[in-house]
Amino acid sequence: MARRPMMAANWKMNKLVREAEEYMARLLPRVEDSAEEVDVGVFAPFTCLKEVARMAETSRVIAGAQNFYPEDSGAYTGEVSAPMLKDVGAEAVIVGHSERRELFCETDGLVARKTARAIDSGLLPVVCVGETKEERDAGEMWDKVSGQVREVLERLGDISGGELVFAYEPIWAIGTGDVASPEDAQDAIGRIRELIAGIKGREAADAVRILYGGSIKPDNIEDIMAQPDVDGGLVGGASLEVDSFVALVEAAR
Ligand code: PEP
Repeated sequence: MARRPMMAANWKMNKLVREAEEYMARLLPRVEDSAEEVDVGVFAPFTCLKEVARMAETSRVIAGAQNFYPEDSGAYTGEVSAPMLKDVGAEAVIVGHSERRELFCETDGLVARKTARAIDSGLLPVVCVGETKEERDAGEMWDKVSGQVREVLERLGDISGGELVFAYEPIWAIGTGDVASPEDAQDAIGRIRELIAGIKGREAADAVRILYGGSIKPDNIEDIMAQPDVDGGLVGGASLEVDSFVALVEAAR
């Protein structure tokens, strides 16, 4: 089955409202053609999400958040719910980014709950999984990644409609310039797809998109995108400049 590629910008904790508006004003005309073939996602901080979503509304670009809390309302000071994200126009959300797992103590269980709630709320979750350098060096990459994927899948019903996206993001490659080799990216992502097939069936495994993330740049994207199981990229640093993000989107066509 041909899966629609996706190139997703994770701005992390960057950009004021004015900067976000300037970026979107430059990005939208430049990805208009590519967005016919590629899902282009912009995952913005909460503070500029409304403007990003408003500007993206007349395009095919998907506005997304970087996190949310899996209850709809209530006494959760400082948190933002799925209905709140939808209210400002978000269509997607990153779940379980390694920075959230490491810095904000998000567990596999919470990530699984968030994923299920995002799907139930009509948001497309981009669920991040990946191992540390120490885990890879100790030969524990697959133990770690398969455990993270399994916990998410066990919480979900049928996903053969492509209701979620996984992003394999080896932690040692995030923001380090130390990109995974195309073969290592394919190895991990191919194994994730087989795990989905084992738990949810072949149809689901063929429908779920799996991105690679970790120091993607215009000069390394082509070899990564050429891998059969890689459906696109989740991009931090290289998504902050319009020119480099546009180059990545074009490489995904
Ligand atoms: C990320 O934050 O998801 C990421 C992959 O960052 P970078 O592209 O900067 O490595």
